[in-house]
Amino acid sequence: MSIFEDNQKRLKEIQALEGISDQEMSVFSAPVKSNYAELEINGRKYPSWRIVFNEALGPGKGGIRFHPDVSEDEVRALAFWMALKNSLADIPYGGAKGGVKFDPKAADKKELEEVSRQYIGKFHQYLGQDKDVPAPDVYTNGQIMSWMLDEFEKREGRHEPGMITGKPVELGGISMRGDATAQGGYLITKELIKNFLSDRQDIKIVVQGFGNAGLFMTEKLANDGYKIIGVSDSRGGVYNADGLNIKELIALKNGGGAVNEYKGGQSVSNAELLELKTDILILAALENQITKDNAANIKADYLVELANGPVNYEAEQILAGAGKIVVPDILANSGGVITSYFEWAQNRTGQILDEDYLRQLLDKKMKSGWSRVYGKYQEKPGAITLRQAAYIIAVKRILAAEKARGRI
Ligand code: NAD
Repeated sequence: MSIFEDNQKRLKEIQALEGISDQEMSVFSAPVKSNYAELEINGRKYPSWRIVFNEALGPGKGGIRFHPDVSEDEVRALAFWMALKNSLADIPYGGAKGGVKFDPKAADKKELEEVSRQYIGKFHQYLGQDKDVPAPDVYTNGQIMSWMLDEFEKREGRHEPGMITGKPVELGGISMRGDATAQGGYLITKELIKNFLSDRQDIKIVVQGFGNAGLFMTEKLANDGYKIIGVSDSRGGVYNADGLNIKELIALKNGGGAVNEYKGGQSVSNAELLELKTDILILAALENQITKDNAANIKADYLVELANGPVNYEAEQILAGAGKIVVPDILANSGGVITSYFEWAQNRTGQILDEDYLRQLLDKKMKSGWSRVYGKYQEKPGAITLRQAAYIIAVKRILAAEKARGRI
């Protein structure tokens, strides 16, 4: 089953719950723009995509992923999630995503730069601050954004820092972008705890994925005193029922190590890590991690989707049947794109906004997102999931924009 088709099932539920017409729902059946190109480096070819799912609310917005498993189906699903996420976050963007089917871990710096520049060479005419605005995603970062901006400006013959976000500060980025997704996920997890686990002491947390999103979020939760009993990266995980020393783990990771080399716990596979007994499981790696094959074995009562799409449709039915709560990706990981919006707004106006003020604004927007989703969820106690509540709000805002434009 394709990831995109999997999500169409979720949309069908929203349509039935809200009595939305087929004509209105056709907005979500396919992307508005889908571009493909083949990059070629040292005689090897790399398929690449840039897909804009919807642009009723504003220009396309969404990251670019470098990963050996990237496919058109994955990029389309990620672009769809971006459209919903931007709508839910109340920011003036449509949804988009890009990807290159390429393994950056097997490439040297020169090849990485070449892939980044070729990508812009193929897609620059579709990008721009008012057209479609990329950002980092899995295995892309500020350096890659810098090469991409440079290539875009060279080809277009003008400065336009707002064409891409997640840049270093020297090129118009804002330093808080680095941990913004984690900060957003952290605030949402605190809201989850406040609303569902307020009577509990000694809350235990497991985190899958120890990159930009997962590492910073783990650090923030550990600083608050929560017991992090398991973490993993692509090479495997480590577990300690008494809690891991996160400072040491971060130092190991920053020194180029893998978390399963850590001696302060027992080594576990990624599959085992997901099934550990814990209160909260934070999914911060990739999509399709919880499926019908392992959903029944999940022992965590609460799952937070910091990654995009880690729990698939069938798995969610099983989890819901077991009374487990899933905090959906389009809410939990929206801190990154909200902060990208601050960066874009700054680039466009030339104004430099105080970072303390922006951090407060991010807090406010995340808490507002939570209270709108939780408020909708409570309207029909037990009848809808947090994801359905989030999807209803996001779908309706896009449909309102489509209607105002006279398209539906
Ligand atoms: P990243 O490249 O910085 O880190 C990815 C992490 O996942 C790495 O630690 C990697 O080792 C680990 N990983 C990869 N495959 C794994 C596997 N099978 N099992 C366990 N761990 C595995 O990427 P990131 O930016 O942290 O993104 C992670 C997820 O968060 C993605 O789904 C991404 O789309 C989503 N996300 C990121 C941002 C952002 O601003 N960075 C924003 C929104 C959503």
